[in-house]
Amino acid sequence: MNANVTQPWNMIFLVGFIVFVAVRAVYARPAQAEEKTVSRFDGRERLLLAIMFPPTMLLPLLYLFSPFLAFADYPLPVPLPWFGAATMAVALWLFWRSHADLGRNWSVSVEIREGHELITHGVYRHIRHPMYAAIWLWAIAQGLLLENWLAGWSVVPAFAVMYFLRVAREEELMCESFGDAYRDYMRHTGRIFPRIKKVC
Ligand code: SAH
Repeated sequence: MNANVTQPWNMIFLVGFIVFVAVRAVYARPAQAEEKTVSRFDGRERLLLAIMFPPTMLLPLLYLFSPFLAFADYPLPVPLPWFGAATMAVALWLFWRSHADLGRNWSVSVEIREGHELITHGVYRHIRHPMYAAIWLWAIAQGLLLENWLAGWSVVPAFAVMYFLRVAREEELMCESFGDAYRDYMRHTGRIFPRIKKVC
């Protein structure tokens, strides 16, 4: 077995990775059972998901279990993986809570399901995209834990492309589906950072 996976920060990453995949697997199944009434799962969405596969799955696993990415290894200064581990813990918590709060309204793409409910409670109370916020945090944690340019950081530009191409489109669909209820929700929330309230 390649030595990378036995290195402590890499083991921590691997445990987090398994939790991340498990959370998605547990919550995706009941959500996917619900019929879709509107779907924007087109070629562009398929391409975005394809772009995300290598940096989130393939490259970290190649780095952990094979020597193929060794050419891109580099040492991270000691405190950074500690920040990475802390960021990963927050990312996993937020990823879990956003799945739990969104429940059967979750979708891998931009879609509306039968009986779709607008969720504005829990971690959706202050931000509209807690799941994407969790993935941003995860991307940063991955970079701070894996000492390899490709396996560590390629997820940041890949998710940036996905986030910026998807988020406006998703909000447009939410406005079409929920009208003033979503527009009002937008006024009180930020996308991934809570909106700073004006005093008067
Ligand atoms: N962007 C959200 C949800 C990601 S899952 C987040 O980052 O937390 C994507 C699906 O969630 C989309 O198909 C959309 O229909 C649905 N969705 C997004 N925000 C929602 C909300 N506040 N309530 C219910 N469904 C929502």
